[in-house]
Amino acid sequence: MKKLVVLVVIVVGLIGYLGWTWDGTSPSITWKSSPVIGKKAKIDVDVTDTGRGLRSVQVSIRQGKDEKAVLTREYPKLSWPWQKGQGGDRFTIAAEDLLKTAALKQGDFEILVKAVDQANLLAFDNTTEAKTNLRYDSRPPQLAVLSQQHYIRQGGCEAILYRISPDAKASGVLVGQNSFVGYPVPGGPADSRICVFALSYDQSVDTPMFIWAEDQAGNRAQINFWKKVFPTAFRKRDMPITDTFMQAVVPEILAHTDEVTEKPTLIESYLEINRKLRKSNNDQISALGRASAPQRLWSKPFIQLTNSQVEAVFADRRTYFYNGKQVDQQTHLGFDLATSAQNPVESANDGTVVYADYLGIYGNCVIVDHGLGLQSLYGHLSSIEVDKGQKVTAGQTLGRTGQTGLAGGDHLHF
Ligand SMILES: [Zn+2]
Repeated sequence: MKKLVVLVVIVVGLIGYLGWTWDGTSPSITWKSSPVIGKKAKIDVDVTDTGRGLRSVQVSIRQGKDEKAVLTREYPKLSWPWQKGQGGDRFTIAAEDLLKTAALKQGDFEILVKAVDQANLLAFDNTTEAKTNLRYDSRPPQLAVLSQQHYIRQGGCEAILYRISPDAKASGVLVGQNSFVGYPVPGGPADSRICVFALSYDQSVDTPMFIWAEDQAGNRAQINFWKKVFPTAFRKRDMPITDTFMQAVVPEILAHTDEVTEKPTLIESYLEINRKLRKSNNDQISALGRASAPQRLWSKPFIQLTNSQVEAVFADRRTYFYNGKQVDQQTHLGFDLATSAQNPVESANDGTVVYADYLGIYGNCVIVDHGLGLQSLYGHLSSIEVDKGQKVTAGQTLGRTGQTGLAGGDHLHF
C-alpha cells in the first residue's frame, strides 16, 4: 500500500512536471520585404519560439517547378525537459545570395521557411511552415529625353521633358547632390514628365547632371542629356552694419522667433540671426518647395512688381562690416525691388498661398506655390492680405511692402 502511494505521487509529480515544461506552441515566422525586390534588396525573416526554443530552420525558394535550399540552421539538441534553447533568430537573405546559391531568375518566386522547435520527451516537436510570394526585378526603368536643347545659367533654372516606362515610381533630374522631382506633363501623354531644375549659384558649371528614374524594387536608371552651361559673374557688395540698423531689426526678429536667443551684445545677436536663422529659414523654404503641387497652376508669364526698381539681384555676395571690420559673408537669395512705401505687392503668377506668416529674416512673408516645384516668395511685408491655402491669380495683391525682418528700408524681397 505504501509503495503504491509512493508510485502514484511519483507518476502525478512527473505528469505535473511534464505539463509544466511541455512546449505545445509552434514557432512563429514573420517577414520584412518589399513585394518586388531588386539586386540590392534584402529579405528579413524572423523566427521565434516561445516554448523550449528552436531546433532547426530551413529556408528555400521555389521558382516554377524548381525548389532550391537557401539555408539550413540547426540548434543544439536539448536532453532534459528543464533546459531551454534559443528563443528566436533573424535571417537576412540578400538577393545577391539568392542569385548565387539558388540561381534566382527575373520574375515571380516563392520563399518557403520551415521552423521546428525542440522536441518534448525527445520525440514530440512542433513544426511551422510559411511561404510568401515575391517578385525579382533587377531591370531599371527605361528613360528617354524628349526636349532637345537645355541652356542652364549658374544660379538659374531650366526645364526638361522626358519619357519613363510604366514601372518607374519616381523620376527627376539630379544636379550634383541636389535632386529635383519630375511631374506628369500637363495635358501630355501618361508616360511623359517635366522637371524644372536649377544649377545652384554655389555649384560649378561642370557639375554632373542626369535624368534619373527609380522603380518599386529600387532599381535606378540614369541618363545624360544635351546641355550648355553658362557661368555667372555674381556681384559683390559691402554691407556696413550700424548700431542704429541693428537696434531697429534685432529686437523685432528675436521677439518673433524661437530658433535664436538674445546674445550679450547686439552684434552677436545680429550675427546669430544672419547665420543660424538665415539657414533655418532657407531650409524651411526648401521644404515647402518639395511639397509643391504636382500640376501647373500658372498660365501666363511671371511678372515683376509694377513700377519697381531692381536694387539687389539674386546671389549677390555680401560682405558685412561692423566698425570697419569684416564680420560676416552671406549670399542674397533674391531680388530686392524698391517702390514707394507700403506699395501693394502683386502675385507674380497664379497659384496657391502656402505660407503667410512671419519668417525670420524675411519678416512678414508670403510664399505662393505655382506647381511643378516652382514657388515665389515675398518678404519684408508691412502687412499680409491673404491666408494660407488661398488661391491667387497673377497681379492679385498679397500684402504691402515694408521693412519687417532683416531689412534696412521699405522694399520687396522677391
Ligand atoms: Zn533682399
